[in-house]
Amino acid sequence: MHIDDDTPAVRSWHAHIYFDGAAQRALAAELRERIAGRWALQLGRWHDAPPGPHTRPMYMVAFAPALFDGVVPWLALNRRGLDILLHPNTLAPRADHLQHALWLGQPQPLRAEVLAAAISIDDDEALMINTTPREGAR
Ligand code: ZN
Repeated sequence: MHIDDDTPAVRSWHAHIYFDGAAQRALAAELRERIAGRWALQLGRWHDAPPGPHTRPMYMVAFAPALFDGVVPWLALNRRGLDILLHPNTLAPRADHLQHALWLGQPQPLRAEVLAAAISIDDDEALMINTTPREGAR
């Protein structure tokens, strides 16, 4: 989609699904199974210790821009109180997380100092798509 000459292209989207405590951890695990069974996207690793810029336990799912219209409303309706960070990937991680982000639920603090201002295309992680949605991938 052509938006504007100096608007960077969105290469992919991330949804970071946060949880805190045993009850939310169980909800997050259930949601992960439903996502895996429904969407052809990349399921990231489960993190009980907050990785990188994140300040709460979470897991990430990555998806192609073409899936946005399906995945985001589905997450909005099925998040069951979990807070979710949605951010585009435009090779500008700091701005993507801090300025370009959308939140479902309550925004959470992020550690800006570990986010690079810019990365090259070679450093951008390619999507590893769960092409046949099934439970328990990765
Ligand atoms: Zn991310």
